[in-house]
Amino acid sequence: MLENKNNDRTSLSDLGEFGLIEHLTKHFKINQESTLKSIGDDAAVLDFKDKKVVVSTDLLVEGVHFDLSYMPLKHLGYKAVVANLSDIYAMNAKATQITVSIAVSNRFPLEALEELFAGITLASQIYNVDVIGGDTTSSQKGLIISITAIGEANLNEITYRNGAKATDLLVVTGDVGAAYMGLQVLEREKQVFQVNPNNQPDLDAYTYLIERQLKPEARKDIKEIFAGLDLQPTSMIDVSDGLSSEIMHICKQSNVGCNLYEDKIPVDPQLIDVCEEFNIDITTIALSGGEDYELLFTIKMDDYDKIKANPNFTVIGHMTEEKEGMHLITRANTKIALKARGWNAMKDEE
Ligand code: ADP
Ligand code: MG
Repeated sequence: MLENKNNDRTSLSDLGEFGLIEHLTKHFKINQESTLKSIGDDAAVLDFKDKKVVVSTDLLVEGVHFDLSYMPLKHLGYKAVVANLSDIYAMNAKATQITVSIAVSNRFPLEALEELFAGITLASQIYNVDVIGGDTTSSQKGLIISITAIGEANLNEITYRNGAKATDLLVVTGDVGAAYMGLQVLEREKQVFQVNPNNQPDLDAYTYLIERQLKPEARKDIKEIFAGLDLQPTSMIDVSDGLSSEIMHICKQSNVGCNLYEDKIPVDPQLIDVCEEFNIDITTIALSGGEDYELLFTIKMDDYDKIKANPNFTVIGHMTEEKEGMHLITRANTKIALKARGWNAMKDEE
């Protein structure tokens, strides 16, 4: 995991707004050819030549989207970038730049913002995106972060949510559900810690789950894999809110139905163990968990041979005519309606 090292406290008012911006942004380097002008003027200038440009923004509010009592600031910075890049990759585009805007209360010392920007910097290096601007201002209470991600793609590569056809195969990358249970583990440990601060949590059995929650990765690699396989998905979305709600977005926007097979949904062994321990149904978590930042996409049936041997991909179902509806086929071979909240869907209909 990412390390925290600063224990000093320098008040933000000691630097002033311009001093702070200079301090936080001076080390950013430019790697993308498309970045003509970066931080330092009234606006950045980009040149994408014959490529199309894709843009996506997210806003994260302390207490609503993150809790600093178990989310170290460096992780938060990293995750905020990853979550945005995931949206660019979900368009089958290459991420190239980000802007970073923060509103921060005087409760935070400079060292806290340095941690946040250390995470942002690390992610920008790993994913090779230039930080080309942003805004810095104060807030009455808490921390607010907004990141805008920019990417490029050829027109024929761009993949929307609305291109799935009946009989297409439904495919997901990696595994799902782990990030959500990582959060449950962290919340449980926080409560134990509040009761007895001497209680050091033993988190060895949960390392993968916690890593997925605190240091998720976006699927930068998938666009390159598609290119290598000469594969153009017919639709795509990233799994940020939970597998079932993402499947439903594709179905609704593409005017198709689907059959999702419970026994095909890829889950990590650690997730199986922790769901047993918490006495929670694993399919519920896999369907509704969220924050996995995997990619969910559809392909033509004829393209199955291109992906079948690739360990990054799992075929989890297929699309149907819209009138057939959206269904989960359970391990017991019963067909139940898919809902955005998998848990309730199963309770309601069995
Ligand atoms: P303006 O007054 O035009 O808004 P600022 O003084 O806010 O300009 O910003 C100066 C430069 O620093 C701009 O290039 C801006 O994009 C950049 N910048 C400001 N805050 C951030 C930040 N949090 N992260 C990255 N760049 C930033
Ligand atoms: Mg400004």
